[in-house]
Amino acid sequence: MKFGGNAVADVERIRHVARDIVKQMQKKREEKKGNDPASNQIVVVVSAIKGVTDDLIKVCDSIMGGECSRVDSIIHSIEERHRSIASNLCNDGSYTSELSSIIDALIKEMNDLLKGMMLLNEVTPRSRDYLLSFGERLIAPMLCYALKDVGVEAEHLTGKDAGIVTDSNYGDARPLMDTTRLRVRHKIMPMLEHGVVPVVTGFIGSDQHGNITTLGRGGSDYTATIIASCIDADEVMLWTDVDGLMTADPKIVKDAQVLREVSYAEAMEMALFGAKYLHPRALEPILDKGIPIRIRNVFNLECQGTTIMKSPTAYPSKIVKAVTAIRNVSLIDVRGSSMVGSPGTAGRIFNVLGEHRINIIMISQGPSESSISMVVRKSDLDKAVNALELNLLGRLIKGINVTDDVAIIAVVGAGMRGTKGVAARVFKAVADRGINVIMIAQGSSELNLAFVVEDRYAEGAVKALHDEFELDRINQ
Ligand code: ASP
Ligand code: MG
Repeated sequence: MKFGGNAVADVERIRHVARDIVKQMQKKREEKKGNDPASNQIVVVVSAIKGVTDDLIKVCDSIMGGECSRVDSIIHSIEERHRSIASNLCNDGSYTSELSSIIDALIKEMNDLLKGMMLLNEVTPRSRDYLLSFGERLIAPMLCYALKDVGVEAEHLTGKDAGIVTDSNYGDARPLMDTTRLRVRHKIMPMLEHGVVPVVTGFIGSDQHGNITTLGRGGSDYTATIIASCIDADEVMLWTDVDGLMTADPKIVKDAQVLREVSYAEAMEMALFGAKYLHPRALEPILDKGIPIRIRNVFNLECQGTTIMKSPTAYPSKIVKAVTAIRNVSLIDVRGSSMVGSPGTAGRIFNVLGEHRINIIMISQGPSESSISMVVRKSDLDKAVNALELNLLGRLIKGINVTDDVAIIAVVGAGMRGTKGVAARVFKAVADRGINVIMIAQGSSELNLAFVVEDRYAEGAVKALHDEFELDRINQ
């Protein structure tokens, strides 16, 4: 079970998670399966309190900018927040003092690190990961003691202690699964066999030299699936503050529905299309084993959430299951007659962007080959255009056209594969609302169909498609 940062944001919520979710689940399973010790084993993974990772990133920025007072004030509020939780969380006084001294020691370690970073006025990828790790490291002991306080045996450990070994790509590290599997099993299995609930920090691993690494933003989901894969878990529950994956963003479509089941491939598409509640690589570790993932809402225990699984059986006749919009993106169109029929053109263009660490979200080239269109994040736009101008303009490419404010609209659903007329329905629905389509891409997997519109039409397009595929009635 992984708990997101909003689920553990204060004393009441942490108690709720410990008492009403972890303890209850353990009890329910014990009742159901009798005394089979294998039936009620739970590993808990926890994210930093919502906003804390963002704050620690601000601290890094402030250190580089030499703004010491800003660093102090952010750190001070992080400290206060955690100290106050630690002193109010447990009913048992001896737990309170143990927990408080654990938190104090972590805060001291964090301040020692900060002193070094500020002295050097430097933030390296490695020291940054080390600093970010404190978000999760400060909350794991809290949840652990909340569990002890309600009579559940628990022990807290970092992702590093749990045995997650990664490459040294700080900020976006990937697990070395063979080593990780051995170490995680070695560490976690005995705890489970002794009836102890391991409470593991999400987001963090360590490289082979023992340095702390992080798995990328939202990486706690990934921690949960890595561990699940290592110990051959029956299922992964991602406990968050929403009911599950939805047919559309409920802020755009009022009657958007929670999807009861989606396939791994569909969930992966949805994650890539910005359904914020899933780390894009989180599915990788559990794909082969077919371990299902359930997304559940800590604030709505009634709702069964979304199950992400190999072969879903719900909605057998649904062609499209979700419509999403990626906002804040820009379109770059490069053209030039020398691009026609010359091998390596796309390679050179993408290389230039790659070298400048610009991520291309969507690509399209027509068979006339005289232009290539690409969509990038708006925040990368200037960098991307500069790089292309400096390196290729006047040689390979004759002109660069930019459309600032666009949105990618994507429809997702495994049912589209091999179904005729989906594109016709999509584009007719959009055209009927008077919306112009600027660019189109569909991978041959046919799991998604994506197109670009001016951003001001994004909501209209999402609504039109939600209506067209009757997604408001998907659960009826
Ligand atoms: N705390 C980390 C982040 O905010 C990891 C996570 O929340 O999953 O990105
Ligand atoms: Mg998160």
